[in-house]
Amino acid sequence: MTKRDYYEILNVSKNASADELKSSYRKLAMKYHPDKNPGDQESEAKFKELAEAYEVLSDANKRGMYDRFGHQGVSGAGGSRDINDIFSNFGDIFGGFGGGSIFDDFFGGNTGRRRQESNRRGTDLRINLKLTLDEIAEGVEKEIKVKKLKKCGKCDGSGAKGHNAFESCRNCSGTGEIRHVSRSMFGQFINVTECTHCSGEGRVIKDKCDECHGEGVVKGESKIKVSVPAGVSEGQYIPLRGQGNSGRRGGSSGDLFLYIEEEKHKIFHREENDIYMELDVSIADAILGTETIVPTLNDEEVKLTIDPGTQSGTLLRMKGKGIRHLEDHRRGDQIVKVNVFIPSKISHKEKELLEELSGSENFVPKSQVHGKKAEKAHKGFFKSVFG
Ligand SMILES: [Zn+2]
Ligand SMILES: [Zn+2]
Repeated sequence: MTKRDYYEILNVSKNASADELKSSYRKLAMKYHPDKNPGDQESEAKFKELAEAYEVLSDANKRGMYDRFGHQGVSGAGGSRDINDIFSNFGDIFGGFGGGSIFDDFFGGNTGRRRQESNRRGTDLRINLKLTLDEIAEGVEKEIKVKKLKKCGKCDGSGAKGHNAFESCRNCSGTGEIRHVSRSMFGQFINVTECTHCSGEGRVIKDKCDECHGEGVVKGESKIKVSVPAGVSEGQYIPLRGQGNSGRRGGSSGDLFLYIEEEKHKIFHREENDIYMELDVSIADAILGTETIVPTLNDEEVKLTIDPGTQSGTLLRMKGKGIRHLEDHRRGDQIVKVNVFIPSKISHKEKELLEELSGSENFVPKSQVHGKKAEKAHKGFFKSVFG
């Protein structure tokens, strides 16, 4: 029987790159895979031929030998081969198809134990952690209560009443696995599945613990201390490994995720690490200037100077009074937006004073002064034309 050219088998050119080889092999292997062509001898032969070609060409040394000496150069490659070897040799290629791939069953034998452990792993928990801006600004230590499944104290998580409460599973003879063997021209396929009777554990409980009814976990509550760094923001989370629900019958615990929720502040509004507030200033203070006390985070009170002639809408920056940065610990600023307060109700006397001021030169806005001049100029223009 003459052997076909390896490049031809893989449907690539002689100077194909490693990636081209791999992707062509994947494509063809999927096409001729025994699971997709049950009972088709020709497909199985092609599948085996592909594996042999790929084994040689994917290895730089073997490929060099093959290029120079042909099949003679790599005799010993291929040869007698169990189809399960093909999967174990190229597991990295077949592994990339994601969960539930048609290849899973072939690897079942290796992952059975791991699967059994993951079956019993406790689930993850998610909790929202409400924080005030004051807490976020400096970082905070929090103690939180978490309702969760905890290891049963009575049976120490085993689910059984005493040490002799277990017996070997009869369904799987204590192996935790059920093997189905099928024969093909390449030898045996062994399809391993988890024993459903014992959930892969190999043993079953004869006498269940009365506290947890054999689950090994009971409902409970834990207090957990967590240190929240400064500068966190809404949507971020803190993972606490192993603080989720305890696993059934000695399985490992899930994780706890604390999602940060930022409480609205009465005064401040946050933009990244800066905080903003509005400050009402009387007309007189805005004109004359003043010193005032403004609140800052964590109830510190700080003096702020309003310069004479401060306009409404002016932003005054208070350096380093904002939130501490999550990474470099520098602080953001507090930004105060001046809002000149216009009273909606005034007394008779106030009205008189204001009327007196309203005509005063400095109280007439510049734009209006220009406006009047413009009007005069305009009149002059009309006069000259029509007058
Ligand atoms: Zn128990
Ligand atoms: Zn079993």
